[in-house]
Amino acid sequence: MSIRENLSQLKKSFTADECLLIAVSKTKPIPAILEAYESGVRDFGENKVQELAEKALQLPKDIRWHMIGHLQRNKVKYIAPFVHLIHGVDSMKLLIQINKEGQKTNRVISCLLQVHIAREETKFGLDDKELREILLSPELPQMKNVKIEGLMGMATLTANEQTIRSEFSGLRKLRDELNHEDLPENVSLNELSMGMSGDYLIAQQEGSTMVRIGSAIFGERNYH
Ligand SMILES: *Cc1c(COP(=O)(O)O)cnc(C)c1O
Repeated sequence: MSIRENLSQLKKSFTADECLLIAVSKTKPIPAILEAYESGVRDFGENKVQELAEKALQLPKDIRWHMIGHLQRNKVKYIAPFVHLIHGVDSMKLLIQINKEGQKTNRVISCLLQVHIAREETKFGLDDKELREILLSPELPQMKNVKIEGLMGMATLTANEQTIRSEFSGLRKLRDELNHEDLPENVSLNELSMGMSGDYLIAQQEGSTMVRIGSAIFGERNYH
């Protein structure tokens, strides 16, 4: 099927109308991204800074670029001037760097805190304690050039639907709980970035507000 057809199938399958579709275009060439763009997609996700920056230069300016991968502090400067949302913030040090680069370009940069919800050891993300430490840290209210919009999580790669469901619902409960605490002004945990090609329907049932979908739109990738 073509990218256009994949997108239309995907949209039809969505059970949450307001859930934002982020097309994950990592490793995919410009013409493929343009095909999705011409089908109406404006939100694209990449997991490498250099690839994201190069594609942003070549593609229409009304695209909202999402940084979905692990971000190194020394690379924040390359995307700070234009990035729409950074999904994978997993340390205070990184957040401080984003704030600094936001200041330089006179922007308030939207971020999600990545939470470790999977059973696998390898996936990045904060545990409950680290998450609270960031959200309740005395420095955070002074950081005027970042805004924390919500949480991001990746479920375990498994065929066990119940495992995936409980991981997503756990993330949602955590977000709801935290929203009852006394959070600073630059935090409002509305967004839940969860769900990919294999598990987006479960994620939507568990309250996802944005799904990050690659292979179901663009086909399988040959490398990561
Ligand atoms: C690659 C990637 C996706 C998309 O994965 P698919 O299974 O191709 O939909 C989503 N989120 C992150 C963080 C990724 O790196």
